[in-house]
Amino acid sequence: MNKRVRKFIGINIGQVLFVFIAFLTMVLVSYFYVGNIVSQQMRSIGEETMNTMQATITGNLVGSELMFANVIQSVEAMLKENQSNEDIWDYLISINTYFSENHSAISGFLSVYAYIRDEFLDGSLWIPPENYYAPSRPWHIGAVKNEDSIYISEPYLDADTGGICITFSQQVFDAFGQPAGIVAIDIDITKVTDFIADQTIANDGYGVLLNDQMRFSIHRDIDLIGIHINVAGGEYSILEQIILDGKEVSAVRFLNADDVDSIAFFRTIFNGWHIGIIVPRSNYYEQVYTMGIVLSIIGGGLMLILAYILIRTRAQKMRSDEKNMDKSDFLTRMSHEMRTPMNAIIGITEIAKNVNELEKIHNCLIKIESAANHLLGVINDVLDMSKIEVGKLELSETDFLFNDMLEQIISVVAVNIDKKKQQFTVHADQNIPHAITADKQRLAQVITNLISNANKFTPENGNIKLMVCKENEAENGCLLRIEVWDNGIGISKEQQSRLFQPFEQADGSTSRKYGGTGLGLAISKKIINLMNGDIWIESELGKGTRFIFTALVGIGSTEKAIASDSQDDDYDGLFKGKRIILAEDVEINREIVMSLLEPTLVEINCAENGAEALRIFRESFGKFDMIFMDLQMPEMDGHEATRKIRASGLPNAKEIPIIAMTANVFREDVEQCIKSGMNAHVGKPLNINEVLKMMKKYLI
Ligand code: ADP
Repeated sequence: MNKRVRKFIGINIGQVLFVFIAFLTMVLVSYFYVGNIVSQQMRSIGEETMNTMQATITGNLVGSELMFANVIQSVEAMLKENQSNEDIWDYLISINTYFSENHSAISGFLSVYAYIRDEFLDGSLWIPPENYYAPSRPWHIGAVKNEDSIYISEPYLDADTGGICITFSQQVFDAFGQPAGIVAIDIDITKVTDFIADQTIANDGYGVLLNDQMRFSIHRDIDLIGIHINVAGGEYSILEQIILDGKEVSAVRFLNADDVDSIAFFRTIFNGWHIGIIVPRSNYYEQVYTMGIVLSIIGGGLMLILAYILIRTRAQKMRSDEKNMDKSDFLTRMSHEMRTPMNAIIGITEIAKNVNELEKIHNCLIKIESAANHLLGVINDVLDMSKIEVGKLELSETDFLFNDMLEQIISVVAVNIDKKKQQFTVHADQNIPHAITADKQRLAQVITNLISNANKFTPENGNIKLMVCKENEAENGCLLRIEVWDNGIGISKEQQSRLFQPFEQADGSTSRKYGGTGLGLAISKKIINLMNGDIWIESELGKGTRFIFTALVGIGSTEKAIASDSQDDDYDGLFKGKRIILAEDVEINREIVMSLLEPTLVEINCAENGAEALRIFRESFGKFDMIFMDLQMPEMDGHEATRKIRASGLPNAKEIPIIAMTANVFREDVEQCIKSGMNAHVGKPLNINEVLKMMKKYLI
């Protein structure tokens, strides 16, 4: 895996993990806290419900108990007054009638009865069956056991009414303090038990009642009625233990008889009963669970978004870091690439100054020319790259002879190929059109770059092959396929993927060993793309490289091609009698133009800035035929001078051709020149042929 990719993944896994842990912690902490709040709230709702339940039941039963205590008192008073059983029975009958008619006195009242001096007295006039023996009844036994306090029976099903009943009973004593019998009262507590059974917490759960023997009197599960809590199943014994310890059961978690995770509340009321509410835990905590899920979803979503943003930002940063590194690397290389020929130019010039022999001076000049051309190549690459970066690289198409272009390329590269004694073969398909329409200079630039690279990265005596063929016909043209082969050092797969990026070289050591800016292939790819073609590479380290590219070209006119090629004709004396103004502030540049144009016999008047050019033009009264105008000059620049000349109203002021001659070569610069009123533009460093063509166009 690529080192950068590994680094990228490494850093990101760390960050994403951090985000994940941070969010997980956040979700867990919120879940924990909110869960606590919710369960506390549930607990207090539960407690409140228990309080209400306890108060209601107690209120109901204690009211009945008080009334019963009154009855006991009255019966005991009658006993102490030694009244007869007959009198007591009468009293019980009247009381029974009263309670039956006044429901508010004892809610659920059924009947009052007694067993006094071995006689059963029933206030409701119920006649017991033959075998009825009161002392064996639970109410009698319970009251005897409780001595002088009220016995409250377990709830039981009344055979007549089908309701749930309890019995209050208590012993009564005579004037001598001797037990005289038992008085009892039956009460239907169905209302109370229904009330208990209906209890819920937050609309869920069910109420239960345990009697003082710890047996279920009320339970949703009928099978558990009458069953001791200890053998009810599940984890009821946990609750039993807490109740036996005399503590309150408040929101205690346990498994109920069906093994359902549940929460229980229990209270022991005045008569020793234990009332309770049981809620399934899942419902009890439903809000907490829902909140947990919502929190997890929100947290997870936010985490994903944050991780995505982090990865994107990191990727952008790494890309820009890499670009910066590539660029600073590039600057180092560029400084080397420019200083080396510059060093040669300055050094050899110094040598040339000190020698007298013409031949040696000539040799020096040839070397200086070569170094200067190399420097120009580097500068052109940088300029091309700047154009590409701002999207300003454009093609300018002409008709030309394809083979002529190949010959020109071969003559340029042959020098270096010969130097390394490399075998160079060219194979051009016969069916390639004779004349084609394309940007000749740019097409030649790509092919030259590929062959120069092949030459550079192939050892001495190696082989280099140029193959050109017509891939297929296209509308108004054809697709050319051009291949450059070599058996040089080759390029690894990983490096191949990066080669067409600007500032990239196969590896850092390349620049040290072979030099180069690392821009050539990026520029070539851009040019090829503009020609609707594609470029790719087949290479194996140590075995060689094959660059293949396609380019869509038009079918050109042979006549036009020949005509434009034959323009490099003889210019000697061609511009005799013509006068031009050369506005140029740098003396050496003036000297160069003057000596290059000397053979044409054109008459040149020099101006050192725009203002001087304007003055010369004013004073000339139309005698000049053309002006070469530098742009950046002191006092008055070329644009202003041109505008002033055009606006001067002098004869010839509007028509005289003004040609910009400048190192500002971008399209905007050219457009700016035309806007200022100039006719055309030639770039520096000057190409003498271009200058001559321009002069021919405007002077003849
Ligand atoms: P440079 O000016 O550095 O040659 P290029 O963009 O033309 O710039 O090439 C980029 C890099 O591609 C080179 O530095 C070299 O590492 C590699 N390269 C290009 N052509 C070849 C080739 N024929 N054989 C081996 N390596 C090559």
